Amino acid sequence: MKKLFPLFALFILACSNDNSEQIVNMYSQRHYDVDQLQYDNFEKITGIKVNVIKANADELIQRMRNEGENSPADLFITVDVGKLWQASEMDLLQKYNDESLTEGITKSLTDPNGFWVPVTYRSRILVYSNERVQESDLSTYEDLANEKWKGRLLVRSSSNSYNQALLSSLVANLGEEVTQNWTEAVVSNFARDPKGNDRDQVKAIAAGQGDVAIVNSYYIGLLLSSENEEEVNAGKSISVFFPNQGDGQRGSHINVSGVALAKNAPNKSNALKLIEYLTSDEAQEIYVNNTFEYSVKPNIDPNDIVKEWGAFRKDPLDLNMLGSKRNEAIRIFDSGGWK
Ligand code: FE
Repeated sequence: MKKLFPLFALFILACSNDNSEQIVNMYSQRHYDVDQLQYDNFEKITGIKVNVIKANADELIQRMRNEGENSPADLFITVDVGKLWQASEMDLLQKYNDESLTEGITKSLTDPNGFWVPVTYRSRILVYSNERVQESDLSTYEDLANEKWKGRLLVRSSSNSYNQALLSSLVANLGEEVTQNWTEAVVSNFARDPKGNDRDQVKAIAAGQGDVAIVNSYYIGLLLSSENEEEVNAGKSISVFFPNQGDGQRGSHINVSGVALAKNAPNKSNALKLIEYLTSDEAQEIYVNNTFEYSVKPNIDPNDIVKEWGAFRKDPLDLNMLGSKRNEAIRIFDSGGWK
């Protein structure tokens, strides 16, 4: 017993050390103010501090790969499910192995492979000038290839993961050849070379530089609720349109912001608690009312601004295809001249 005691004491020390420092390390591609609010709220409830490392998804993936087994990453959260698929393919993630984590979440938004948990979703929609476009002029993503849009389309660059995910969905749904032709025609309809972010495309419509833009849905909520008058006016100059809603059509492209456990998560139990918190009704309410994203839980209504746009049909594609078709999408962007 005497001999064992120092070991036992060390064990106690190790445990108490562990308890005194409750942390979880989050590698985050998300770029919204609401996230810190969520992490502060989580710490208040659980006493677990969230350390956030923010960068773009490719940088975070590279970092996890370089760190290997010693990576401090517990969680990887992205705004593009394609990057979660990529991380899982690179063996940087572990399955969450707890079905209760996705209880109450819309089944079609979950990962059939069990690596990532959806936290919010958004649609990549069309917005159009209230002055120069009739709602009846719009129909599908495919229709953006029509000559009637010559010199009128606005969209950001092809290096952006939202666009890469959208094009991945077209490759999955329509095939490479059709998507290649579509890309070339859409590029020939651009009002200008791609530049700026999604908000800038809406501002460009307000300034008369183009008539229709491809943007993520929540940016319209962010513009309309902005404290900046120029942003509010930009938001008011356009209307929202969900493409591919007609009879027999597949629905609008959606993407998921999701979270996954890192392969060697050193604080795994804390990480699981954070996933549980982020998908709780309380956290989902905070998301919908601050970023205007959609909740992954059907019992949580969108914010009033978003609710006004009405319900829409979502493309039912397996979301992992947004990753598995990514290389084809990037190749098509490049050869199609989408800068
Ligand atoms: Fe965004």
